[in-house]
Amino acid sequence: MKKQYLFLLLVAGLLTFFSACNNEAHYKALIVTGQNNHNWQASNPILKQLLDQTGLFTTDIIITPVKGGNMTTFDPKFSKYDLVVLDYNGDTWTEKTKTAFLKFVRNGGGVVVYHAADNSFPEWEEYNKIIGLGGWGNRNEKSGPYVYYRGNDIVRDDTSKGIGGTHGARSEFMIKTRNFEHPITKGLPANWLHGNDELYSLLRGPAENMEILATAFSATRGPGQTPGNTSGQANRRRNGRDEPILMTITYGKGRIFHTVLGHADEGGGPAMECVGFIVTFQRGAEWAASGKVTQEIPFDFPSAAGAVFRPDFKEITLEDAMANIGSYDIAKSTKNFTFLRNYIRKISGDEQALLNLEKRMVTVLISNEATVDAKKLLLRELSWIGSDYSVPAIKDLVSNAELKDEAEFALVRLQPIK
Ligand code: ZN
Repeated sequence: MKKQYLFLLLVAGLLTFFSACNNEAHYKALIVTGQNNHNWQASNPILKQLLDQTGLFTTDIIITPVKGGNMTTFDPKFSKYDLVVLDYNGDTWTEKTKTAFLKFVRNGGGVVVYHAADNSFPEWEEYNKIIGLGGWGNRNEKSGPYVYYRGNDIVRDDTSKGIGGTHGARSEFMIKTRNFEHPITKGLPANWLHGNDELYSLLRGPAENMEILATAFSATRGPGQTPGNTSGQANRRRNGRDEPILMTITYGKGRIFHTVLGHADEGGGPAMECVGFIVTFQRGAEWAASGKVTQEIPFDFPSAAGAVFRPDFKEITLEDAMANIGSYDIAKSTKNFTFLRNYIRKISGDEQALLNLEKRMVTVLISNEATVDAKKLLLRELSWIGSDYSVPAIKDLVSNAELKDEAEFALVRLQPIK
């Protein structure tokens, strides 16, 4: 009896051990919010969703008292977490909370500084070391140098007098990856277009132990330059600089990822829906928590050709793509077909997976709801990956005047004349 009991205990122990090994790394994240000159009520659930859907994080949100409230009740247990995401720009924390936060970072805690969090605490010296660069709050030359790129050279010693932090009207802008070796930006395109957002510029701060991962060109005038002379190519070049957009900082043993992207509108808006923001936020969070990035770059990451949005903040799945592919309209989004092509590439060589996909494609192909454009594209893809399974359905389409050419083309490919 006793032996059997010991054996069961051993089995239970082994099962626990193996299931722990099978689980992906799991990190605990805390989003700090509650005061901001931005719509923090809109941003914080989105940030939580973005972290949780990586499968790497379980995320808590802590909401501070309102502006002017009793901050002594704001006493987060930072040390219980692997990552703290700052979506906060408001009243000063108590000395106790500040000390706990600094201890957390020094001991190796991860931090994500999100958008206006770099406006916070202009007077708190250690906080400014953690964010590297900040803006507004009467920041000026006393806050530290301007740091930016001029051409391919990084400028770290511009101590000229002037404000810290500004941005022009919101617009789409091109982001230039500057570091292709860092885990966060490894594999990103050299240039990618970001959705309508504020381009923070003229940030200043101690910038110690800070690396710039990506920049964007801002024509915003620098100090000493007259307002209004930012139009025209020559002036743009003279006044403009490539401003830091994504940065990493180390503080003690702590890792900090600083993104200036993601201005929140009601419901998030284009800056937060932008895949460039979403993916760099998720990768930056993982790196800050662990020092590595295991997430793949998704197929829909934007390029220089155009910004890409996820209105529901989720990566498209095969189910989504197949459910929506039939309503394909050549003038609108091609994301379902882009997904399909990438998916085909991913499963190439796996005959069973290809056959399963082929069956789903044929279902759409023969449906009455699918558009002619969608059917044409499906015929094209099936001509490459199809098997005998597709042939009867395609034969039926030869009698359809609009699809005749594509159907015959596919049949020739699938049934070569012997
Ligand atoms: Zn903003």
